[in-house]
Amino acid sequence: MQAETEILIIGGGLAGLTAALHLNKVGLMVTLIEKDTYPHHKVCGEYISNEVNPYFKWLGLDIESLAPTFISKLLFTSNLGQSIQTQLPLGGFGLSRYTLDHYLYTELVKRKVNILHDRVVEINFAHNQFTVATTNHTFNATYVIGAYGKRSAIDVKLNRSFMDKQSPYLAVKSHYHANFPNDLVSLHNFEGGYCGVSKVENDRMNICYLANYEHFKKYKNLSGFQENVLYKNRYLKDILENATSLFDHSLTISQVSFERKEPVYNHILMVGDTAGLIHPLCGNGMAMAIHAAKIASELLHQRIEGKINSREALEESYTAHWNREFKRRLKMGRMLAALLRNTNLESLAISAMIKMPFLLNSIIKKTHGKPITIPS
Ligand SMILES: Cc1cc2nc3c(=O)[nH]c(=O)nc-3n(C[C@H](O)[C@H](O)[C@H](O)COP(=O)(O)OP(=O)(O)OC[C@H]3O[C@@H](n4cnc5c(N)ncnc54)[C@H](O)[C@@H]3O)c2cc1C
Repeated sequence: MQAETEILIIGGGLAGLTAALHLNKVGLMVTLIEKDTYPHHKVCGEYISNEVNPYFKWLGLDIESLAPTFISKLLFTSNLGQSIQTQLPLGGFGLSRYTLDHYLYTELVKRKVNILHDRVVEINFAHNQFTVATTNHTFNATYVIGAYGKRSAIDVKLNRSFMDKQSPYLAVKSHYHANFPNDLVSLHNFEGGYCGVSKVENDRMNICYLANYEHFKKYKNLSGFQENVLYKNRYLKDILENATSLFDHSLTISQVSFERKEPVYNHILMVGDTAGLIHPLCGNGMAMAIHAAKIASELLHQRIEGKINSREALEESYTAHWNREFKRRLKMGRMLAALLRNTNLESLAISAMIKMPFLLNSIIKKTHGKPITIPS
């Protein structure tokens, strides 16, 4: 089958689902291809910055109906037992990806957006048009949004350079039953990684951590690693010892890469993690994915209405917007992660923040954006 569409979105995570909702709202013809079915759990800390609220309302979404937890405080603890707590300048909410992604998907179905469950295997661009092959179909599209996440076989096919570099990071997530404050997100450092803890809907607690594989491989399994490494942070030990997992097995992903990527590649507008993943300790990846989807959708709308006069101008404008909005946040995330890897520097930084608490707020502001403005 050979199908025609004006805009094709590859990947139905937060970035792809949001872009589809936006483009549909402004009346454009869009097709979304997602390899998995909904709902499903994803490795993610599931703390979402309130930055997204005005935009979600504009998209006609009612997040409160999903009963998220409202989070207003951050606690940071070190392996040496230091801790610092602060009010989050903007705050956020806790909602599982199982519920959130499924809700956005259901909204798209209600709004009769064309969604295909299939795996994209190849993207070619020639004669000002894309040909996108899935396992079972071929699509012709004028524009393509790449929203297929952190890494995919598509990146290998496209020859993206970040795929040449091995990443030492592995991520683990599970939901638990435990006593934990609803309004708190806590971040706990341990040797070779860090762990986020917060509540999501239905009184479930999310524990999600990022670990260096070199540290991890010394242990036979997750529980060995947790008991020998994570438990050295006494706060984390207390949380993990008093929590009951609600999953049969924790979800894990490997090769989590924070390398620089291109926001436009082979004429594809890359959104969300496909354009760059911020260190999860910043708790801003989801808001960035949603915001990037908005920027790409608005510019595509302007291009199709003739307000942007060429594909080249569209790509330049998207790259400029993306860099302006996200490049500094990603850089700050890399710097913070490097600081946490060095026990001496980390300890000095925490001591400084305990004496001057405004420093922590300033760091949070540098890794977050302002509330996303509503399209005019
Ligand atoms: C350990 C960890 C913890 C995190 N914690 C937080 C947090 O607390 N707060 C926060 O804001 N951010 C957090 N993040 C970041 C956040 O999870 C991501 O930034 C966010 O998921 C990006 O969404 P996305 O739509 O770009 O990608 P994804 O959600 O990964 O979606 C990509 C989609 O593309 C699909 N896909 C892939 N390949 C193909 C293909 N070939 N064909 C069709 N479909 C395909 C996938 O199935 C997937 O559904 C965390 C990240 C990690 C690694």
